[in-house]
Amino acid sequence: MAELKVQGSGGYVIADLTDEQAKKADLGVGKLFLAPIGKIETEKMLKHYCNNCETEFDNPPKIQLEESPNEEVADNLILIERGQFVCEKCSSIIGEYREFQKKGEVGNARPTE
Ligand SMILES: [Zn+2]
Repeated sequence: MAELKVQGSGGYVIADLTDEQAKKADLGVGKLFLAPIGKIETEKMLKHYCNNCETEFDNPPKIQLEESPNEEVADNLILIERGQFVCEKCSSIIGEYREFQKKGEVGNARPTE
């Protein structure tokens, strides 16, 4: 685990990331990005910076959850959760995340065709 700065569209988050998360976030441009990581637990986020407030807060950002979309985005890939990390003060979006699930990973249910 390491405290890393992870960039979002409206600021950044300082978070304790696992090696696996850090690898996902690294798009090879010398910065880490929130979007590819997926959801980060609130306890793992230490600070957030809001571009709108131009302030770094010593708290995790708030998580704003959208209703579970259950959208099929690609073959056998379901979008199960979509949310945003938002500023604790002005509620601007710091970054977004999406959680996907592969069809067939739930129990032994077989696709009906
Ligand atoms: Zn703000």
